[in-house]
Formats: sequence, C-alpha cells, structure tokens
Amino acid sequence: MAKTSHHQQAQPAAQRAATLRDAIDDANYRYYVLDNPAIPDAEYDRLMRELEALESDHPELATPDSPTNRVGAKPVAGFAEVRHAIPMLSLANAFTDTEAPAGVDPEHEVRDFVRRVEQGLGIADPEFAVEPKFDGLAISLRYEAGVFVQGATRGDGTTGEDVTANLRTVKAVPLRLRGKAWPTVLEVRGEVYMPKAGFDAYNARMLREGGKPLANPRNGAAGSLRQLDPRVTASRPLAFYAYGVYLPPDPDAVLADRHSAAMAKLRGWGFPTCPQSELVRGVEGCLGYFAKIGAMRDRLPYGIDGVVYKVDRYDQQRELGFVARAPRWAIAHKFPAEEQATVVEAIDIQIGRTGAATPVARLKPVQVAGVTVTNATLHNADQVARLDVRVGDSVIVRRAGDVIPEVVRVIPERRPPHAKPWKMPTHCPICGSAIEREEGEVAARCSGGLVCAAQRRETIRHFASRRAMDIDGLGERYIGDLIEFGYVHSIADLYTLALDDFLEMKRRAEERDGAIPDTVKAGKIASKWAGNLVEAIEASKATTLERFLFALGIPEVGEATAKTLARHFGSLEALMQAGEADLTEVSDIGPVMAGHIAAFFAERRNREAIAALRQAGVHWRESAPQRRTDGPLAGRTVVLTGSLSTLTRDNAKDKLEALGAKVAGSVSKKTSFVVAGDAAGSKLDKARALGVEVWDEARLLALLESHGS
Ligand SMILES: [Zn+2]
Repeated sequence: MAKTSHHQQAQPAAQRAATLRDAIDDANYRYYVLDNPAIPDAEYDRLMRELEALESDHPELATPDSPTNRVGAKPVAGFAEVRHAIPMLSLANAFTDTEAPAGVDPEHEVRDFVRRVEQGLGIADPEFAVEPKFDGLAISLRYEAGVFVQGATRGDGTTGEDVTANLRTVKAVPLRLRGKAWPTVLEVRGEVYMPKAGFDAYNARMLREGGKPLANPRNGAAGSLRQLDPRVTASRPLAFYAYGVYLPPDPDAVLADRHSAAMAKLRGWGFPTCPQSELVRGVEGCLGYFAKIGAMRDRLPYGIDGVVYKVDRYDQQRELGFVARAPRWAIAHKFPAEEQATVVEAIDIQIGRTGAATPVARLKPVQVAGVTVTNATLHNADQVARLDVRVGDSVIVRRAGDVIPEVVRVIPERRPPHAKPWKMPTHCPICGSAIEREEGEVAARCSGGLVCAAQRRETIRHFASRRAMDIDGLGERYIGDLIEFGYVHSIADLYTLALDDFLEMKRRAEERDGAIPDTVKAGKIASKWAGNLVEAIEASKATTLERFLFALGIPEVGEATAKTLARHFGSLEALMQAGEADLTEVSDIGPVMAGHIAAFFAERRNREAIAALRQAGVHWRESAPQRRTDGPLAGRTVVLTGSLSTLTRDNAKDKLEALGAKVAGSVSKKTSFVVAGDAAGSKLDKARALGVEVWDEARLLALLESHGS
C-alpha cells in the first residue's frame, strides 16, 4: 500500500524534474551556443532552486547529467589520471617559440605550410577551416549514450588529469546532448577559457573584497579548472568552445565528410563553437583571415593568441597525415607575445598635467609584441602595494594593442635579497612640492599646482580661461609657445610680458614651423595681435575673489565652490589661514575637498606664486564675510534636502544665511533642523535616525516671512 502511494507521488515528481532539466538545459543552450538568452537570470535561478529542492526530497531522481551537479561536488585530494582514448596532439606553430626567433618570418612559415599542403594534395588553393586560437586550457570531453561521463586536461597528450567534477560546473559544457542521432561514444576537444568581461568582473570583486586577483584570463581558466574543490571552479566565470571531435575507439572514424560540417553537428547537439570560424581558400585566404582577426582582437570578448588553419576535408587530412606527432594539415599562426619578463631597474613617479602622481617602472629594455618597452605604468600606489613590485624585481610586462605597457605581476622566486617595498615619494620630482594623497582617493598628487613645471601648461591654460581670469586670445597654442621659448615659467610671468616679447615669440614659432618670412602687412597684423594680448592681460588684473580662486586650479574646486569660499571667507587671507577643520564647516565642502584646499595653501611655493600675482597687480574688492553672526537665526545650522517648490535651494540658502543661519551640506547631531522638499533622500533618513527636527517647505516659508524675508 505504502509502496503504491510512494510510486504515485514519485511519478509526477520525476516528470517535473525532467521538465525542469529540459528548461534549464535549453536556457544554457540558448545562452552559450546561440548567444541569445531566452529567460532572465532570476527565472533560471528559480528553476534551478526548484530542481534542487525536488532532488533533495527525492534523492532517487538525482542523475549525473542533472544541471544541479553544476554547483560543484565535494573537494578531492588529487586528480586521477586519464589515458586519452585518442591522443591529444598539439599543433605546429608558425612560430617555433612564443616569439618569432630573429630572422624567422611567421608569414613565411604559413606560406610554406600552405605550399606543402598543396603539394601533398596535388591541388591549388585548398579549403581551410580557420578560427581564432583561444587563450585557455585544452580539454577533452567524453560522452557515452549522450551523457557527459568524463573530462580531462591535455596533460602530456597521452595522459591527462581527470577534471570531470570541475567541468560539470562549467555551464557551457553540455551535461547531456540535445537531439538524438549522436554516436554511442563521442569525444569532443575544445578549450575552457575565461571571457574578458568575466575576468574583469571577477578581479574587480576580488579587489573590493580584499581577495587575490587573477593575473590574466589564461591563468584564470587553467587555475580555476585545476581546483581541488569543484565549488571554487563553479564560482569562476568559465566558458567553453569545441574545436574538434573523435569517435573512439577508431581514430579515423568521422562524424561528417569535413571539419566544418562536424562542427555544425556539435553545435546542434549543444556545444558552443567559435562564432568567428570561417572557411577560406589558399594562402591569401589564411593570411587575410589572420589580418582580420588581428584587427578585431582587442574587441573580441575573449582573449586569443593567434589563429588556427585546418584543412577542412577529412579525406584530405588523412591523405596528408602526421609528421612526428603533429598533423601536416593544421598550423597555429600566433600573434607576437604580449607578455614578457624583464627587470625593474627603478620606480619613478610621473607628474601628469593636472598634478596626478603615477608610479612608473623603469625596465631593462625588452621586446613585447614587436616593440621595445622601457617603461611600464604601475597606475597608482595601491597597485604597487597590491603587486608588491620592488626595485630589482623580475616582472611580467604586458602590452596589448595600443594600451600603455603595464606590469602584470612579479616573479617572486627571482626577487633579489634585500629588495625593499616601494613607498610613494614625499616630494614632487619636478618642483619639490609636497605629494599629497587625500584619504579615500586613489591618486596622489603634487600640491604645487601653481609652480610645478609638469602642470604649468594646464595651470596657465586654466588660469587664462574665460571663466577664470578671462585673458582673451591667450589660447593653448600660444601658451605652449610661451613656455617652450622660456617667456613664462609661472603664471605671474604672464604679467611681465611686453609687446615685443609676443612679437619675438611669434617670430621664433614661425621659424620653428618653417613659416613664410615676415612682410610689412604681416608685421602690422602681428603688432595688432600682440597689442590685443597685452591689453587683455592688463585687463585681467581687475578681477573678483571668486574668479581668482577658481583660476588657481585647486583640485576639486570648481566655480561653484570658489564662489562659496569667496562668500564664506570674504578675503583671501581669511581663506588661506583657515585650517582643514574650518573648511569642513563651510556648507558643500566635504573632507576630501577641504584636504585639497588646505594642502594647496599649505604649500609655500603656491603662497609665493599668489604673492607674486598680487605684486604684479592682480586685485579684487575684498568684502566682509557674508555670514552674519548676529542675525535672528545666528547659531542655528540648517540642512536643505530634496527640491523645494517655491524657492531654489540656492535661494533658500541665501535667505537663511542672510538671517544668520549656517546652511550645512550634511546632517549631524549639531543640525538644528532639516528642510525636506520633494524626493528627499539619504539626508532625510539620517535626520530621522539622529532625531533631528524635519521641516516641510511651508514651515520654512513661514519662518522666513516672520523675519521679513
Ligand atoms: Zn610638482
């Protein structure tokens, strides 16, 4: 009786499990093979959870080809050996090594290969199946009666490692085949790889969580697949594509009459194949394909290290046969290696035009992807610390496409004794000003914005710009010439320039550019031009404090902040004397910005440059600070959040400040009240959490009105 009832319950469960498995397999197929996802991730997860629950309630329903196996089995102590039913051969390279040896032209090798194929077959322009060579790990997958039973690494070609449990977690590897007419035993060869997007996302997550990032997608794929804990493999973004097939035990048995047709069959059974694969004819077809893939290499969603040419027809492959253990009918045409090892001779910092200090590794010169590399960027101090690069270290340098060469990793076993961890220098190598790094910011920067030669061009361009000192006509080109010919070393020098200086500079620039010699007419035009510039520079001397502050180019200080600072402090002296703590008191100024402002004015060289500008005649009308300390709202701190319907926020702020209130940018226990308009966000939440009074707009208007505002 009990047996019957169990049977009656299990029947629908078994059907449901089959339905779920079909739906999940179908979703994988659409995602990995057709590249056309059919259901959202959330739906996929829901199906998976339902199947897991079903299999845990009915353990007898669990099967080795169930997608629930993809979450990863229990860790193992080591990998068993697998003897390949048919050896996994490696292809000959058009390069004999990672980099073409001197005098060996890979294109020449490809031409030789095609000529040998043509001679061997006695035909011209044979057909080649061509595809990119993925940068991953070669594997072999065995299917029996349509079910995945074993997966192995290449190993030495004869014997590999059994990584079946890990391969089950790779969703692009089908656990059972679609369709029907598959052979009893099928061995599929292909590459497990880590797509670039998955690699980037994984590394970003590792950096966020303090984990260890992967060196590159290739190592990522190989390392992930050789984990003893399959659950670790399951957490890695791995993909797979098929590039070969065998029907053991007969090494000569074929699925179709040609490779391309066999690949189409595999695709139908649920194996991803390379979407960039093509059929070409002859050597020109091969080399044309190489050029095409090379041009799109950086845009491909996966890393490749070359392309592979294979004679498409199986009968022709058999006719050509093998030499040693490599096929005569296929060759890999590799791109020049993008990574090389070399030695770090020094670590310097480079100051960018906005003052950012970037650590740069000075390298023992090395050829990478056909170019001699002597420097590689280390991006920032965090990156140096993460890689732990030290002077004297051997490192792997990478140069891909047009990207600036970078240090990828250190080779720890080659570290010389006594190598010391690197520290960001305390002073700018160009101008000697202090190097500052605000808390929470990645970049360190030279604080000598007004005096640093590395920043000079950008500093003067910004200083002269329309919204700053508004020196009409002094564009980037002339600024460059003034610097190049030594007329200007700092912004104050602009105010020492005379008409003749501009004319002389122009003449020298024309000489340099090979421009036509002077004529009377050109001389008149030049005089007028120089006269206008001298006038514009003179006119810029009369300015306002807010313009002047903006013109100084203090990091993070834009026009709005310059205005706030000018109004709050009233005079430059008051601002320069303000400490970081005073600055954070100003509304809209956070701790990072306050740090930048304080560091800027703390630098003696900047103060000297400002003094020189005032000495040269730059002036403005100083005013008393606008913050009243005696108004009816004196001593009260107000925070505005959300949008008000009758007032702009600036407007409301002006009115409150006119009555003596302080309008702050963030809510604290000291806040007297928060005015919340529409769509008020986190500030309102914080006010509530701290128990700070919250006002609506009407109440604010009533208060302003009661004080005649
Ligand atoms: Zn500097």
